[in-house]
Amino acid sequence: MTDDDIPTQTDILVIGGGVMGTSTTYFLATMTDRSVTLLEKSQLASGSTGDSSAILRHHYGDEDIYTEMAWWSHQFFRAFDEKLDAALSYEESPLVRFADEGTTGGDYARAGYEALRERDIPVSAYTGEEITEQYPMFDVDERYDLAVSDDSAAYSDGTDAALGFARGARDAGAGIVTGVEVQSLEAEAGKIIGVETDQGTIACETAIVAAGPWTHRLAETVGVDVPITPVREQIVLLDPPAEYAEAYPSLTPTTSFPGGEWYIRPDFGDGILVATHRHTEETDPDAYDNTPDEETILELVDEFADHVPELRDAGLKGQYCGVYSTTPDHDFIIDQAGPDGCYLCCGFSGHGFKHGPAVGKLTADLVLEGESDLVDLEYFSLERFADDPDGHGLPMDNI
Ligand SMILES: Cc1cc2nc3c(=O)[nH]c(=O)nc-3n(C[C@H](O)[C@H](O)[C@H](O)COP(=O)(O)OP(=O)(O)OC[C@H]3O[C@@H](n4cnc5c(N)ncnc54)[C@H](O)[C@@H]3O)c2cc1C
Repeated sequence: MTDDDIPTQTDILVIGGGVMGTSTTYFLATMTDRSVTLLEKSQLASGSTGDSSAILRHHYGDEDIYTEMAWWSHQFFRAFDEKLDAALSYEESPLVRFADEGTTGGDYARAGYEALRERDIPVSAYTGEEITEQYPMFDVDERYDLAVSDDSAAYSDGTDAALGFARGARDAGAGIVTGVEVQSLEAEAGKIIGVETDQGTIACETAIVAAGPWTHRLAETVGVDVPITPVREQIVLLDPPAEYAEAYPSLTPTTSFPGGEWYIRPDFGDGILVATHRHTEETDPDAYDNTPDEETILELVDEFADHVPELRDAGLKGQYCGVYSTTPDHDFIIDQAGPDGCYLCCGFSGHGFKHGPAVGKLTADLVLEGESDLVDLEYFSLERFADDPDGHGLPMDNI
């Protein structure tokens, strides 16, 4: 996709070319006649989106708002090619959540089971020996007595999604400009009047900051404090031996364990991705080490082999790291904040990808209508941290 020229004026400016900025630009461009421009400092999908495991699950324990958004978004992803005339890698992969009845993890798994059943989203629960029958590759029967499967879960690709949304946005009339960095937001008399970039000033009345783990730095330029901590997560790709792949053609289900600090996902092709989900290692999104630590690789491979013994000798075929934008309660921030015309779309805390279409629609609704009938935007307000720095508090199972 070739780039548009940098404008000197636009009505609505979106900052950040990840899945959230591109999705928001797409929805805006299809919903308004006002001019819309997206600015990206590097390449589209060069932030968290490009490193995303892109799991599309719907099970969110008792957090119904995310189940609603994930399901709405999944229908959008299923029709992506048709809506945007762009290819999207997509693979169905039921997500199993192992847990113990009567524990926090068990309650979380059961709550999500009920939430999916109520909405007719395919879901199954297995107990006792059924677990081994259903998941013969796992050695888990001594450890867990409940397995809840989010049967229509899938996984996709962050780069495909951002490029597709950008293409759809441009077809609907938006400008997409890469290689231009916004240095500050500019406000006068309590209103956004433009942004300063490394290539000059752009006048605008509305600026939406969807800059992932860089968002708080830009918000600071108009005095808005956004509680985002960029954290590093580590990923390894394992190469299962041929005899394992023959015995289990789907390799493994996508899998989550109690506490949610690591997960497994089959990869496109024939690998298995094993990743941390810890939210603990604060980092600089401009200067983080992209190679996982040896200690963490050993820990992940060990945990993995402990659960899937036949893969104890799987080879290592890849490794990298990515950055989450974590909020104190792991909930998103989609809000107007600071000067009139300044909007935040950020804080996706390592679980935003699956909601990309819904977040774009919600942000466009907020900017154009001040509200949305998709879900109650109040839940994602920045104000919640003024009342309590912990916001809503951490989710039941911290995932
Ligand atoms: C390793 C990993 C695994 C994940 N797995 C999953 C998963 O399985 N399922 C799921 O739902 N979610 C997952 N996520 C989370 C999901 O990927 C993110 O929530 C989502 O990609 C965030 O998108 P974004 O557009 O907000 O941010 P980003 O993708 O970071 O985009 C922000 C963009 O803004 C640009 N930018 C920053 N500053 C400026 C500036 N000053 N001027 C112009 N441009 C700027 C950046 O270059 C960047 O391209 C994962 C994330 C990671 C890192």
